[in-house]
Amino acid sequence: MSPPENSHPSTKALHADDYLNLVTDVAPPIHLSTTFRYPDDPEALVPSEDPVDEFNGKNYVYSREFAPNATRFEAVLSSLLGGYVVSYTTGLAALHAALVLLNPKRISAGDGGYHGSHEVISVVSRLSGLKKVPLDCSPRELGEGDVILLETPVNPLGTTFNIKEYAEKAHACGASLIVDSTFAPPPLQDPFAWGADIVMHSGSKYFGGHSDLLCGVLAVKRNDWWKKLVEDRLAIGNVMGNMESWLGLRSLRTLDIRVRRASESCGSLLQWLQEALNSTTSESDTDAHLVRTVLKEIHHASLQSEPWVREQMRNGFGPVFSIILTTEQFAKLLPTKLALFQHATSLGGVESLIEWRALSDGRVDRKLLRVSVGLENWEDLKNDLLQGFRSLVQEKQA
Ligand SMILES: *Cc1c(COP(=O)(O)O)cnc(C)c1O
Repeated sequence: MSPPENSHPSTKALHADDYLNLVTDVAPPIHLSTTFRYPDDPEALVPSEDPVDEFNGKNYVYSREFAPNATRFEAVLSSLLGGYVVSYTTGLAALHAALVLLNPKRISAGDGGYHGSHEVISVVSRLSGLKKVPLDCSPRELGEGDVILLETPVNPLGTTFNIKEYAEKAHACGASLIVDSTFAPPPLQDPFAWGADIVMHSGSKYFGGHSDLLCGVLAVKRNDWWKKLVEDRLAIGNVMGNMESWLGLRSLRTLDIRVRRASESCGSLLQWLQEALNSTTSESDTDAHLVRTVLKEIHHASLQSEPWVREQMRNGFGPVFSIILTTEQFAKLLPTKLALFQHATSLGGVESLIEWRALSDGRVDRKLLRVSVGLENWEDLKNDLLQGFRSLVQEKQA
């Protein structure tokens, strides 16, 4: 049985794949087989004309084509993202697959954003002559079949772009809009609602959610695109592993509750930091004074004032933000003073992370730290930051 169409996303996350159950187990079993027995009935041994069209969720043949764990993972994501979902080994493999599908002559993309996405563009350019143009290029620079790649909220700042505006710009010149929505998974943002043609996620972040699997996801509204993506994936072989897709399915069960909690905790931390930054107290023994000694700026979508920002992210803001400290030395040292925030790259896991971003992205301000809020109690996270700030200042004075 399938859940009623009007079920809440948190319900769909638990039941959208029920129809794919092959066994009576309540918890999905781990299917590791790469190959599947053909039917015993000789009458049923008919060479396939179109394996993608003929796939019915039961007639598995070889796991580069379809596999049970990944099919369930995709069924849940299809219902959450509101499109046909194809999963890949990594987020960058998903972006690569989207560019192979659309094969544009030009791609309009921001200078910032995830550095790896620019690497994918440059690999594709080597093969096809694809040209990169700026995100704010004139519409005259784009034509039929071209692509705008919009990452929003954008790495590493966590600030946001207007999806509707870029969708209209793309469609006016016959181009397609790909939205990399990794920083705002469901239920926070629905790029299709604002005109995206392809929604991309690095599933290594919130979908996996426990920093223990790599995965990428494309969602499309067009069935012919879905079919072509699956055929290309079969040809190229960039499929998620069986173990990863099982872990991914398990993680999606709690996506809604994890994302909402992390988003709320992030909001509480930002409010506290922002109030401290804005405070005018001159007493030097207050927490606010300590925050102002260490922290110069905060970047996050919630601090943007344009009216569309709250519309586009009406279910909450993403749990990643960036801070600029007052000195580079503070930025380098702060992660080493924290007990709860782990000093590591990546985001979207249950453990809160902080990263001196200069270590993995040479393009960003060396005073910048990127923060991914996890599922620890937010006041414990606040106290961890406070004691970290305090030890920086004490060390400097000593
Ligand atoms: C991590 C990330 C990617 C790349 O995903 P992988 O799964 O590491 O390949 C792409 N875009 C954004 C915004 C990301 O954060």
